[in-house]
Parts: sequence; structure tokens; C-alpha cells
Amino acid sequence: MRLGVGLACTPDRRRSHEYLVRAAYSSSASKKVKAMAHGLLIAWFLDACEKDGTIRSRYLLAASHHCNEAAKLCREVSPKGACASPAVLFFMKNVFEKFSPTVVELNYWYKDAIKALDERNKQISKGQAKMAQKRLKNPHRYRCAAPGCKVQSDTGKMLSQCSGACDRDKKPAYCSKECQKADWKNHKPFCRPGAECSVIDDGFFDVVGTAPSSESANGALQIPVEFADGKKVLFSSSTMDPQMLKEIRELASKRNYGDGPVLDTIQHVEFSEVD
Ligand SMILES: [Zn+2]
Ligand SMILES: [Zn+2]
Repeated sequence: MRLGVGLACTPDRRRSHEYLVRAAYSSSASKKVKAMAHGLLIAWFLDACEKDGTIRSRYLLAASHHCNEAAKLCREVSPKGACASPAVLFFMKNVFEKFSPTVVELNYWYKDAIKALDERNKQISKGQAKMAQKRLKNPHRYRCAAPGCKVQSDTGKMLSQCSGACDRDKKPAYCSKECQKADWKNHKPFCRPGAECSVIDDGFFDVVGTAPSSESANGALQIPVEFADGKKVLFSSSTMDPQMLKEIRELASKRNYGDGPVLDTIQHVEFSEVD
């Protein structure tokens, strides 16, 4: 396959493209390797997007094709119920869905990729329903009790609870030692058996339903972020610590949603909208 010579197409990029295409269609490579190569090719084409977020239609089609191939291969090699690779899901959610209403061919040519996204969406709503139940039952378990912190977790494992004498069902949970320290003055008089719960409920869980990032993983921390233009988003990460998430919140609050630079700095962070 020969690439038209674009201005942004350096020899290095051309070489990596050639290498990936060869891997993706190699007859000797395993399906896993091929799926990976297709996934990297999606990224390759996304890198070729214009600065304003537009993408040449042949790039869009090529990326969609690689996404479809990756989804197909993933399904063949993954255990049942596993979801498609992050590259596939990222592309489907952030690019494919944006263009599929206008580039109608997309809806007919790339059925495997569409199916992968559908499956993921179903999983998410199932996870959300389950999580909402759990949170309703014991909301304190899933949100940092320090005033103003608002870090929450999709599983109880990410936060640590007060180890004092307070009742189990009323124990506050914290994202960090700092937060526990900050809340101690408030919690101290309540940290005894039979005392009222010291956690102030600001209703956050009423408006947010999020899925566990993955059933097998340890879970993710999340933080609600409000952009300068009022757009509210929930950032979620299984690798960042609470402090990093708070820094992102700080950063985002000074910019408008959709301003490239914010999203660029946290590209690897999954996010879902809070309505
Ligand atoms: Zn906290
Ligand atoms: Zn306590």
C-alpha cells in the first residue's frame, strides 16, 4: 500500500506505517499481533488528523477499516465477554460516532467495530445499574469524605475507611492520608460506636452513574470536573493518584470543554459525561 505524500508525512512515519501494515496482514503473525498492529494503525491515522480535529475522508475510512479488523480479531482471540481493545473503543467513541451520521457508509461497512462498541455500551449500562445499587446501599464507601475533595471510586477497594471505633455502616472513606487528616476534626466526635454518621452528603451520587472500569482490575478513581464553560465531565483513571486527578480538575476548570490542550494532556484518561 502506498501513501499519498502528505506534507505531514515524514519518512519515519511512512516507515512505521509500512511496518504496521505488513504486520497487520502478515500470514505468519498471530491474531493477537495482527490485532495489535491494526490498533496501532488506528492511532497512526488519528495522528494524521488536522489540528482542528478534522480528518481526511480516506484517513477516516482507513482508520475505520483497521478498527473493524482489530475488533474482529479481538473477538476471535479474547475470552467471551471481554471487551474490545482501548484503541478500538476510543476510536469508535471519539471519532467514528462523530462522523457516522454524515458519512453513512460507516454504518454499513464496519459492522464488527459497531458491534464491539454496542457490547461495551451494554456492559457499561449493566455495570452502572449494579454500581448504582451498591452505592445507594452504602454511598460513603465510594466517595472521599473530606469536604471538597469529591474523589470517588468505582469499587470500594480504592478508598480506605476510618479504622476507628465508628460503626461499620457509618465509616467515612478517604482517597488519601491527607484527606483523612483534613476530615479528622469533623469526624473525631463521631468516631465512636453508635454515633451519627459524620459524612456530609452533597448528593453527588444522585447524578452520577459510572461503570467499573474493568471487572478484574482493582478499580479506578474518578473526579467530577467542571470546565470554565460549565460542561461537567467525570474523569476516571486506574493509574493516577488522587493528587494527580485533583490537578487535572484544577487545570480543566480554567479551560473550556473541547479545547484541545486539556484533553491532550489527559488523553489516556477515560471519561464519561455527567448529566
Ligand atoms: Zn480525598
Ligand atoms: Zn471513625
